[in-house]
Amino acid sequence: MVEVIDSDVCISCGICAEVCPCVAIKEGALSYVINSDICIDCGICESYCPVEAISAPGRHPSSENKGDNFSPSLRPSNSKDKFKRGI
Ligand code: SF4
Ligand code: SF4
Repeated sequence: MVEVIDSDVCISCGICAEVCPCVAIKEGALSYVINSDICIDCGICESYCPVEAISAPGRHPSSENKGDNFSPSLRPSNSKDKFKRGI
């Protein structure tokens, strides 16, 4: 089950798009949106969202170890630098 963003909660800060190792998140009309065809369900975006707008339907948050599927090698080369700048 891939992550989804609740457009009613998202404040369009863009942090999730910056940390996604697969570049699966883009800004949409109402909020940021996750491309389910690209998302590997690593959970990184969910753990960084400041307003808890991201979740995986059917998955209980407390039962998951977020980020377990993450591999640093999957991260785009420039996203780490952007995040260090506090974007
Ligand atoms: S981190 Fe959360 S609030 Fe920020 S754009 Fe992503 S879903 Fe929206
Ligand atoms: S779960 Fe991982 S791959 Fe999917 S959108 Fe979030 S950060 Fe990107």
